[in-house]
Amino acid sequence: MASPRLNVGILGATGMVGQQFVLQLAGHPWFRIAWLGASQRSEGKKYRDLAWRLSTPLPDEVTDLTVEAPIPGRAPRLVFSALDASVAEDLERDFAAAGHIVVSNARNYRMEQFVPLLIPEVNPDHLKLIPIQQKSKGWTGAIVTNPNCAAVVLAMALAAVRQFEPKMVTITTLQAVSGAGYPGVASLDIVGNVIPFIDGEEEKIESETKKILGSLRSDRVEPHPMVLSAQTTRVPIVDGHTEMVSVSFGTKPSHDDLIAAFSQFSGRPQKQGLPSAPARPIICLTQPNRPQPRLDVEREKGMAVFIGRVRPCPVLDYKFVALGHNTVRGAAGAAVLNAELMMAEALLD
Ligand code: NAP
Repeated sequence: MASPRLNVGILGATGMVGQQFVLQLAGHPWFRIAWLGASQRSEGKKYRDLAWRLSTPLPDEVTDLTVEAPIPGRAPRLVFSALDASVAEDLERDFAAAGHIVVSNARNYRMEQFVPLLIPEVNPDHLKLIPIQQKSKGWTGAIVTNPNCAAVVLAMALAAVRQFEPKMVTITTLQAVSGAGYPGVASLDIVGNVIPFIDGEEEKIESETKKILGSLRSDRVEPHPMVLSAQTTRVPIVDGHTEMVSVSFGTKPSHDDLIAAFSQFSGRPQKQGLPSAPARPIICLTQPNRPQPRLDVEREKGMAVFIGRVRPCPVLDYKFVALGHNTVRGAAGAAVLNAELMMAEALLD
């Protein structure tokens, strides 16, 4: 593929997701980290002098880079955004208007009509919104988003079984503390506790999942008609969102057909051999006590969704447990896979 590696930047490079971006992009075969941006708190500092909070050592590739102010024009054309949502709206718009391709994690533009909310295995056709977005906004750049970290796990699971026409879905999440950024939830609030409220999360899961599974109609996505009800909780887990899901179908599959659909699910990233694509996007676990965050979430470099306990549901048709890595498949890894798909489809030329 591309040689030499394409220079890329990271907006919000110092946060939980920004640090995951650094890990995902260091040594990447197609991309090379050339620019890091963050707030005035970090501006002017060498990246090695800032607090590194991941267990994998800081990659050599970034140690000497100096964190810059988030000013469009100085960064490479392709920038990944891990900006705090309070500043992402203005900054991402300014970067896209100035000609940057912004591959974003932030929530701000996910539900905009002309913005792809992309999971490469699920809705690669939604990238067709990009030229419509550029025309309507008058931008030479563009914004492409990845889903909320809990929505991506659910959307991948439902995409694998969409041929059976999901009608009603209930989901209860047990979400890791890394999903709240750094420093996130106060330790005295979360240690030994469950917090049954994550501001805005239930609405995001409900609306984003329907957009991701929706149908592209010329200049907009028609949301999937399923009825979806989400409840979200924060639990004292470092990484990995666990989700308890029940689903009813228009065409109820057999138990074997449902397992086969999960296990055989595959998409364009697998066909194209994209560098960050897991061999299998969904891994079905048969042990009755799996998936578990501690045992499973780091497998497949955090890019697969793990599904277990698939069984009949006396209220809806089937229920199961799903698990995904919130800062990898739910954030930085998802965005890198989005950019890889765009590169493979010649959208970054
Ligand atoms: P975080 O740890 O709080 O990091 C926020 C980043 O934004 C930091 O790099 C911070 O820089 C930067 N920033 C804040 N104000 C800024 C300003 N005025 N100008 C420029 N940069 C500024 O948050 P996070 O968990 O990494 O999340 C980042 C984004 O990804 C959020 O929009 C979040 O909703 C989304 N997201 C997070 C997850 C997850 O699992 N954590 C999953 C999916 C999506 P300084 O360090 O210099 O302050």
